Amino acid sequence: MLESDQENLPMLELRPNCECCDRDLPPDSQEARICTYECTFCATCAEEKLKGVCPNCGGNLVPRPIRPAAKLLKDPASTRRVLKPEGCAA
Ligand SMILES: [Zn+2]
Ligand SMILES: [Zn+2]
Repeated sequence: MLESDQENLPMLELRPNCECCDRDLPPDSQEARICTYECTFCATCAEEKLKGVCPNCGGNLVPRPIRPAAKLLKDPASTRRVLKPEGCAA
């Protein structure tokens, strides 16, 4: 585990909520799903409403990696909530 290997990776924002239902998605949530642009959704919306496809960009949604607690101290998760005002189509 060389820490320097990780330094140049683009850092995820780790948005705090689902864009569809505004459910809280803390950085250690197993329920968070993201696309390549980091549009963020909960597992329920991603699977049941969106069928694994991002409604914003058309990309696929994948489980968001968990950032270890020690790293969160250095690189905290975003607190900027992003929400689709019209919600997601069912
Ligand atoms: Zn949701
Ligand atoms: Zn997207």
